[in-house]
Amino acid sequence: MPRGRYAPSPSGWQHLGNARTALVAWARARQDGSSFLLRVEDLDGPRTVEEAVLGNLEELRWLGLDWDEGPDVGGRFAPYRQSLRLDRYGEALANLEAQGGTFACYLSRKELRDVASAPHGATPVYGPNERAENARVAGQREREGRVPAVRLALRDEVVAWRDGIAGEQRVEVARVMGDPVLRRADGVWAYQFAVSVDDLAMEVAEVVRGGDLLASTAVQMVLIERLGGTPPRYLHVPVLLGPDGERLAKRRGDETLRAMRLAGVPAERVIGLLAWTLGLQAEAAEMAIGAFLDRFDVQRIPRHPVRLDVDAYAWLQGTAGPPEGAPHVVVDSVERAR
Ligand code: GLU
Repeated sequence: MPRGRYAPSPSGWQHLGNARTALVAWARARQDGSSFLLRVEDLDGPRTVEEAVLGNLEELRWLGLDWDEGPDVGGRFAPYRQSLRLDRYGEALANLEAQGGTFACYLSRKELRDVASAPHGATPVYGPNERAENARVAGQREREGRVPAVRLALRDEVVAWRDGIAGEQRVEVARVMGDPVLRRADGVWAYQFAVSVDDLAMEVAEVVRGGDLLASTAVQMVLIERLGGTPPRYLHVPVLLGPDGERLAKRRGDETLRAMRLAGVPAERVIGLLAWTLGLQAEAAEMAIGAFLDRFDVQRIPRHPVRLDVDAYAWLQGTAGPPEGAPHVVVDSVERAR
């Protein structure tokens, strides 16, 4: 049976944008009778809010979501918390190393900045200059016993796939993404790697996540293939923006499900608002989770980010009626990669 998943990071409480993606992931799985799993992505220890690890799951349950496997219910691929799966990442890395597809990288952040040749967005891409500089210093640093980061050596290849929402994609992965880190020099496993290992190990057939992660997909597909698997289907839900046009983010203190629940906002209003931003109803109105599932249709999801304006928040807070008209789709926003 095809399997779907949702993978929250407990670096804070789930906000409306997370809830929107979670609803889509859940509805996709439930509409075609698939099983659905929840995986907590808590590898970034210092950023993990311990209370949010299980707390976020409670908030999702409050919305009406359920899952067949997860940290709180177990399942055949347990554990469902990345910090408890470190040995799996070690085994997968050993597998890639045995194929000769990885290399030790001794460059510091500063050195990487200094040799950066072809910056792509905010983060320079690890390419030929970086490889050459690393080759120049690696022997000496290895003899000194320095601990390197481990990177995947990408080949010149084009990764092509059809995203279930964003459509056809073609990425020259080495040029656009650069050789990704698998394990940082401080021993922390990289997001890209852990996600790929877990999606493969947990037999995930469909990944639904935020549009900000679209650019990561090519690297994850390469990783899954090198690990001997077949990549899942991907659906990237365009992000939700705040009234200022910026992407909702936990660190900005954007409205969280938790805050809304504690303030007495009905779950049906949150669902109704999100259903409206997903094109499932023309006018914003409260909606029960069952109705959401009945009406869900991936074809109706706007192909661009949607901005929530102050009237939407006023409705949530109960100080005004529902926002009028259609949601504000922002066609020219730039979805930055992580
Ligand atoms: N844990 C990531 C997040 O919360 C999502 C990763 C994924 O779905 O692949 O943004």
